[in-house]
Amino acid sequence: MPIPTELVGSLPRPEKLQNAYQDLDDGKITWEDLQALQDEAAEDSIKRLEATGEPIVTDGEQRESSFATYPITDTLAGTGLADNLAGDGQFFAIFDDGHHRQLPRLTGGPFRYKTFASEFVEKNRKIATHDVKQAVIAPSMLMLLYPLEGEIEGYSRDQFLADLCDEVEKDIRQCFAAGAVRVSVDFTEGRLANKNDARNPWTGRNMLQDFIDLNNQVFDRFSPEERRNIGIHTCPGGDNDSVHSKEVPYEKLLSKMFDINAGYFLIQCASEEDKEEVYRLCGKYSREDANGVAQVCFMGVINPLTPEVETAEQVKNDLLTAAKHIPVERLGATDDCGFSPFSRDLKPKHGSPDFARDVAMQKISARLEGTRMASEELGV
Ligand SMILES: [Zn+2]
Repeated sequence: MPIPTELVGSLPRPEKLQNAYQDLDDGKITWEDLQALQDEAAEDSIKRLEATGEPIVTDGEQRESSFATYPITDTLAGTGLADNLAGDGQFFAIFDDGHHRQLPRLTGGPFRYKTFASEFVEKNRKIATHDVKQAVIAPSMLMLLYPLEGEIEGYSRDQFLADLCDEVEKDIRQCFAAGAVRVSVDFTEGRLANKNDARNPWTGRNMLQDFIDLNNQVFDRFSPEERRNIGIHTCPGGDNDSVHSKEVPYEKLLSKMFDINAGYFLIQCASEEDKEEVYRLCGKYSREDANGVAQVCFMGVINPLTPEVETAEQVKNDLLTAAKHIPVERLGATDDCGFSPFSRDLKPKHGSPDFARDVAMQKISARLEGTRMASEELGV
């Protein structure tokens, strides 16, 4: 079987759509007006991905406030926030360029999603002629909605975590029921968990093991056959062409991450200084048998945060090097991250989000061609 390839999920929202999100926040347009533009951008994303030959497509997350907040708010500014949440939660991340992203704060129970990702899958399946995947958010991210200190009166942390795991399980199951062939779980908080950033207290609380345990509580509800198609995505962040945790030694995460009983991993690598070391670590720590499923390592061969387009030759060479460390039957190719995980993303290094959409398609084409060339050379 040729080396499989898969995108993470998001694409930059067209500038017109980004402005419409703002217009909704400002009360200038209705939710229905915004949805019409989301649908238009989603269709364009799917058609363009299919034109590159991407075997499994997404809508580029055009209908989502962000990869992390789609279940609980319609916009990043908090328009359409779910029940029992307030806008003033803790930072999720402070990025290297100085900007930050903040989470809502849970004020009481019960915790319930207002939007499940299967809504997007249903719509996308009506448009797509290729298979459809969906990215969903990990429980380990949303556990940060609960205040770091103390307990909410009448809604214990344990009860919240139990409710959260139920919602994430439902999110994944409904995506498959709606026709997704793959569901990947975004786990960008994994590497950040070892950052010890004094400005962002949760990153100094040594939470990586808690994250992994919580994610496994959800993964363990699925059979090995189901987990073959449930992935984990890791990266050092990707927003406004900046990162939040690239300086954290990767081995701290990679030595633990494969304890999650996922069937595949979408692993940032192209932007690392020492890519071969990352292949080696993935070869060392990924498991042939994770409770009944072999873990496939999709290595990042494309950097979505730079406008320079990788060549197919580069992609091929990266994968050939990776194959020296990772068994080829457990090797795949991906992009380092989604191209725009948050709805408001001006892609400053690219100059504009519209241009960044064009660049994304060129990069994806290079990944597809380079992966094909590597498969041919490896004889798979
Ligand atoms: Zn990412």
